[in-house]
Amino acid sequence: MDLEPADAHYRTRDHIDEYTSKCTGCGRCREVCPSYRHGGCDPLAVMRGELRRAFDCVGCGRCTKVCPHTDPKTVMLAAYSIVLDRPVSPDFYETGLNRPVEDHPARTELEPVWRGDDVYVMPGCIVRCMAPHLEYAMAVTLDAVGERGSVLPDFTCCMYPIQFGSMPDAERDAYRIRMGETASGREMVNMCAGCTEIMGRSGVACGHLIPFLHRRIGRLPRLERSVRVSLEPGCAAEDHLRGMEEVVRAMGCEPVGNEPGCCGKSSRNAAGPLMAERQAAAADADLIVVGCPMCLVKYDSVPGGKPVVYLAELVAAAHGDRSTLRYHGIPVDL
Ligand code: SF4
Ligand code: SF4
Repeated sequence: MDLEPADAHYRTRDHIDEYTSKCTGCGRCREVCPSYRHGGCDPLAVMRGELRRAFDCVGCGRCTKVCPHTDPKTVMLAAYSIVLDRPVSPDFYETGLNRPVEDHPARTELEPVWRGDDVYVMPGCIVRCMAPHLEYAMAVTLDAVGERGSVLPDFTCCMYPIQFGSMPDAERDAYRIRMGETASGREMVNMCAGCTEIMGRSGVACGHLIPFLHRRIGRLPRLERSVRVSLEPGCAAEDHLRGMEEVVRAMGCEPVGNEPGCCGKSSRNAAGPLMAERQAAAADADLIVVGCPMCLVKYDSVPGGKPVVYLAELVAAAHGDRSTLRYHGIPVDL
């Protein structure tokens, strides 16, 4: 890897103007914003030039999905980076990852077994730095569906996090395109849908775990008993909710039909109330199944919360390997 700090501390006000000039002020973005509902950010105010109101945006993208004219999420992330004035962390230049690699017992206790390179897995920073047991579950999942895969060599952060707003777009693109070239035509599957979204914007062919499994639905293993599950695909994977339902049904689960929502990530004002909403939405389920590693970390740290697994852990458990469940804060009975 050849990682060099950006020469210029790039600021994106011109970039923001390009998008805000198309805003009609209809307010739909504000109506759907989960953070605004709980005293967090205000996308409409940001589109009107109050950049500080981007604070507490969780990057869920609901605003952009409903906006008929422009892309408020892009503006929110750019405005947030200006407000925070946060440089790219030194960790990125040392490891290619956007955060420190945390101590975790799974690093020494669980060794993922990769069996080939027909498929490349891009774990992403949350998995690699905070939840390495999910990488093990992913290797078991590939086995379970009869695929031979390994981790994408020299993968780096997808450059989605806020701090990368201080880098020129072309520089961020270059990292993503390099990863696409490394895959050299092999199927690339992301464990985090945020990675899929941002890599796709740079023209890199890749896809999230949910559609990957959906295309192999006939090969999925079944659990020994039916489990009622609340599905939380994650903000960037919400479009895959129906596919996720079909995937878990194929494994013998019964979705409870909850509306998915945002876990709140690290929002100062909105994270607590948003997580309370999610726990209430999962009240009828035995288990929450998430498609996002950050969701796994957040849901699994709620005192007295509902048990939760990442989708690959569900596949691994159905395949007979429950090794990763011992690292959960909330006990999982599968
Ligand atoms: S939905 Fe789009 S056009 Fe409407 S206020 Fe929000 S950013 Fe502006
Ligand atoms: S990305 Fe999500 S949290 Fe941020 S402004 Fe849009 S809807 Fe609100």
